[in-house]
Amino acid sequence: MDPSELRRLDPHSLVVHAGLEPDPATGAVVPPLHMASTFARDGQGALRDDFLYGRADNPTRRRYEHALADLEGAAGTAAFGSGLAATSAVFSLLKPGARVMIPSDRYVGVGMQTQLILPRWGVEVVEVDPVAPTAMAEAIEPGIDLVWMETPSNPRLAITDIAATAEAARAAGAISVSDGTCTTPLVTRGLDLGCDLVVHSTSKYVGGHSDIIGGLVAWREEGATAERIREAQCFGGGVPSPFDCWLLMRGLRTMALRVEAHARNAESVARALREHPNVESVMWPGFEDHPGHAVAARQMRTFGGLVSFLVRGDADATARVAAGTRLFTPATSLGGVESLIEHRAVAEGDATRSPANLIRLSVGIESGEDLVADLDRALALV
Ligand SMILES: *Cc1c(COP(=O)(O)O)cnc(C)c1O
Repeated sequence: MDPSELRRLDPHSLVVHAGLEPDPATGAVVPPLHMASTFARDGQGALRDDFLYGRADNPTRRRYEHALADLEGAAGTAAFGSGLAATSAVFSLLKPGARVMIPSDRYVGVGMQTQLILPRWGVEVVEVDPVAPTAMAEAIEPGIDLVWMETPSNPRLAITDIAATAEAARAAGAISVSDGTCTTPLVTRGLDLGCDLVVHSTSKYVGGHSDIIGGLVAWREEGATAERIREAQCFGGGVPSPFDCWLLMRGLRTMALRVEAHARNAESVARALREHPNVESVMWPGFEDHPGHAVAARQMRTFGGLVSFLVRGDADATARVAAGTRLFTPATSLGGVESLIEHRAVAEGDATRSPANLIRLSVGIESGEDLVADLDRALALV
């Protein structure tokens, strides 16, 4: 199917068919896995289809990158060996003296890059509390070179207005980037909303089975920025294995079904937690009184699979809840089919910015009723 036809499909069809053309050599319905690290030239010394060496490109990786570009509505994408390798590639666009704006509530590993690595390169980091959806857009000023968004934020699930922020970034001459890990392109397409770049940790919902570490950068248009990202992939060298790309394509096939089930269960869990006497408050953008609800309703197809909440109790009571579930596994990460529970202050260690009683849930695709019953049982331990 040609890309323009593919891109017009409903996302449920798109995820099944992106990158699924039968193998021309054999007719195999599922893409072949090419593990080769190097590629023979033909009799005239020419490369076949530009394949030279496995770090630069690989047929399985190329097919996966094109599939993700179709899904993201991107001009192109580059796959990386982890989400943080992808975010590093984006930060490698910056020169000494550059200024980056990032939300104060963000994925902890991106925070480590901006706290530990960027200052060593002479890059200044400006943090903005994203509690109001337009907080970042309003804080952008000339002299900011790159604006980093993550919405919903992590772990507080604050919402940033992507379109307004990308527009303010463009007016200031800054590159706008959205970390779309927690939404996936099925829920929010940051490039359509005006971002220059979207990054993903594909370790989460794209892989979907907690068995891959991977990342991706997608760009709205070809040009110098896209070229720098390709260079960061090839010469920075943080590339994924062909097998991981192959598994990620398999993950894609069920992603629409999974993402819907995650969102449905997250809603059941959020609503049940909100009624629970041992819960102080619940962070979930689907609630009408969430400060980002109206923007979330506009820029998200579902309200996502994450729910955070504050236990009515101290750190010890919170630890008992996080250790007291049977279906929710106490582990970090998100986006896998299985539900995970995490006491964020413990996970983040001494540098934590999370309240001592905050728990983050990655709500899986089990039965919603079973998940609510599991949390009920754990909350009785407060
Ligand atoms: C997990 C995650 C990352 C980092 O990805 P890795 O694959 O773990 O390197 C970045 N951003 C968000 C929002 C994430 O959840």
